[in-house]
Amino acid sequence: MKKLLLPTSIVGSLPKPAWLAPPEKLWSPWKLEGDQLIEGKQDALRISLQEQQLADLDIICDGEQTRQHFVTTFIEHLSGVDFENRKTVKIRNRYDASVPVVVGEVARQKAVFVEDAKFLRKQTNKPIKWALPGPLTMVDTLYDDHYKSREKLAWEFAIALNEEARELQDAGVDIIQFDEPAFNVFFDEVNDWGMAALERAIEGLHCQTAVHICYGYGIQANTDWKKTLGSEWRQYEEIFPKIQKSKIDIVSLECHNSNVPLDLMELVRGKKVMVGAIDVATNAIETPEEVAATLRKALEFVDAENLYPSTNCGMAPLSRNIARGKLSALSAGAEIIRKELGI
Ligand SMILES: [Zn+2]
Repeated sequence: MKKLLLPTSIVGSLPKPAWLAPPEKLWSPWKLEGDQLIEGKQDALRISLQEQQLADLDIICDGEQTRQHFVTTFIEHLSGVDFENRKTVKIRNRYDASVPVVVGEVARQKAVFVEDAKFLRKQTNKPIKWALPGPLTMVDTLYDDHYKSREKLAWEFAIALNEEARELQDAGVDIIQFDEPAFNVFFDEVNDWGMAALERAIEGLHCQTAVHICYGYGIQANTDWKKTLGSEWRQYEEIFPKIQKSKIDIVSLECHNSNVPLDLMELVRGKKVMVGAIDVATNAIETPEEVAATLRKALEFVDAENLYPSTNCGMAPLSRNIARGKLSALSAGAEIIRKELGI
């Protein structure tokens, strides 16, 4: 990957066009089916790419246009999971969701996103990043009626993720990111086996790897949860020492408008940090100066060559206009800092 300074990228998702899925909600059902759905997803991916390019982002994502949800779409492609008879469980200790049930041994029978990644690869010469769910977050987004052990199930998921990641790498993906919002909730599990499972998922990869740990999408349940976390959110402190020792190259964090003490980033000094400088839980579009202020603060704890300006989380639940405005703000904010640094 060509050396870029302050390379900008989104965490993962962008809103889908209304003709593909009803906007501004999670798990939004597809409006098309069959071949039309395949074509529709590809068209949406093209639009998502174009919007990132128009905003002049440096690392391009698929905007998750081909997935209904960042976790369940991957799980859907595995054997051993029943999607018909779903169960309602509380996820991230926070909100109820109707989730699939593990009924037998889970295994990846075929590629999940590899064709989509090849499609994106063909459309741009810029570095591309692909997001996959992390093993712990997967375990926390379904009901297990087979392994009866979150650790064992996470290990099986890690093996499936590793198979997928290797093929994504071969398809030309430059950065593979694992989304682990559950890392911010289940510290003991992260330290006992969650991080080990993630390391199993990245085993043998030579492309860059990232872990994204946030406080969730800008949905009500998450906003309410954040209100209970007090004036200082120190969750990252519990898990950073373990991440620091891991082989993960990049850590993607929520920073802007959050109560995360930015000095916690000292704990992962030396890693690359995707600093969330865009709040996905508000419809207010940041000014470039607001973005720059967050990045400037982050530079006290992250060396400039390791700073990757980004968003706090995915933008799937936002309106397209707002997401577009936020992309431009991210880009313009990073440019302010580049100028300040004389690069
Ligand atoms: Zn997130």
